[in-house]
Amino acid sequence: MRAFDLATQREAMGYQWLSWSVSHIGHRLTGSPQGAKAENAADSLFRLSGLPVVQRFPFTAQAWSRGTVQLTVSGMDTSMHIDAVALANTPLETSVEAPIVDIGNGLAIDLDRVGEQVKGAAVMVNLGLVNAPEGSRNLHRSEKAALAIEHGAAAIIFVNQVEGHVLLTGTASINGNLIGIPAACIATEDGARLRLSLQEGVPLRARLSMTNKSEQVRANDIIAEIPGTKWPEEVILVGGHLDSWDLATGATDNGLGSFSILDLARAMAAAPIKPERTIRFVLFMGEEQGLLGSRALVEHYREMGELDRIRCMINLDMTGNPRGFGVAGPEGWKDVVTASCATIHELDTAAFAGQVSEEVWLHSDHQPFLLHGVPVLYPLSDLGKHVYGCYHSSCDDIHLVDPQAMVNNVRFVGPMLYLLASAEQLPSHFSEDGLRQRLIDAGLEGPLRIGGDWPW
Ligand SMILES: [Zn+2]
Repeated sequence: MRAFDLATQREAMGYQWLSWSVSHIGHRLTGSPQGAKAENAADSLFRLSGLPVVQRFPFTAQAWSRGTVQLTVSGMDTSMHIDAVALANTPLETSVEAPIVDIGNGLAIDLDRVGEQVKGAAVMVNLGLVNAPEGSRNLHRSEKAALAIEHGAAAIIFVNQVEGHVLLTGTASINGNLIGIPAACIATEDGARLRLSLQEGVPLRARLSMTNKSEQVRANDIIAEIPGTKWPEEVILVGGHLDSWDLATGATDNGLGSFSILDLARAMAAAPIKPERTIRFVLFMGEEQGLLGSRALVEHYREMGELDRIRCMINLDMTGNPRGFGVAGPEGWKDVVTASCATIHELDTAAFAGQVSEEVWLHSDHQPFLLHGVPVLYPLSDLGKHVYGCYHSSCDDIHLVDPQAMVNNVRFVGPMLYLLASAEQLPSHFSEDGLRQRLIDAGLEGPLRIGGDWPW
């Protein structure tokens, strides 16, 4: 383990490969030429690293992509264009002109306060929570969109809260279907300007026009494997999404995770110690448009009767400098992960605290595995406000990536893989009842039902 740690630090390639990718490929949107290039690059890097098994898992899915968007706001005697980006799953072609009504944070209480004015309006909504009453819980942008639509809004203008003219994208739909009205995001500075006019009593009208595409795309999850020496039929799967949104290069979401996995595969293929169970490295595509690649792969495993062989899944999504692991597994998994974390902690007591937390969350590639009962683990990261502020945004670029954070991904996830691969016994999958109860206890039944993903 010590030798692996030293080699990992000496020979790390993840950051260099990611830097190359952001400058030569750019973003990695599924179904775009850049997405295909990223798939090819990942395939080549696995092969160059000497992985004995490298495969593509092709899938097709309906995916949304942006075309054009134009937002014009007119006041008493002026009219101006405002930079905007369409949110995903907005209509394919629409043009709406309507009065702007500020609905603040867009929560139910805000809509109640504004009342009838929402009907037929272009509502202006904060993505975050601004001056919200104590104890308010923010809603996802798709939930805010659903609420506004329910109240009769004609268009939605989301105002970002990150300074520096930052625009954000991501889905505006709670279930992946196209929504019926246009929704776009504008920068915090522009939002402030519009609000100033409204406060001065100047009525504003917005014209929001957009064209988008929704088409059948073909993409590939890229998969590599190191066969286990003792239990080759049992698999520890480590994955993360390679695709990104298209407003920037997706260096942190999820270049951080996916290029760390490429480096992890390189390091493990080069190491003299071989895992006793099979380690499978999976780079998913289509995560951002709705977990398309992981859903397809899990469905394939289910059809082939292979899900039982996957003992657990570790998901690296926006992962850097892990300080421990979160775990969602039935009885026994927390103990296994805690014991492994204690061993890894010995490698670097300062960098890896070895924290373990039991938690279940959704909306990344572990979700389809979890919903089929596979125990899942996630490295615990705190990347800082400057990174999270650029999530899905025009500023998610390489300057936000700390090279050492990627090295530490490999240093601490690698040993976890070796330890899980060599454990004499691993706890089982979730039972159906156990999983159902676990999801209910975590408050996830509602969100899963809204997305059409509740399995019961
Ligand atoms: Zn992500």
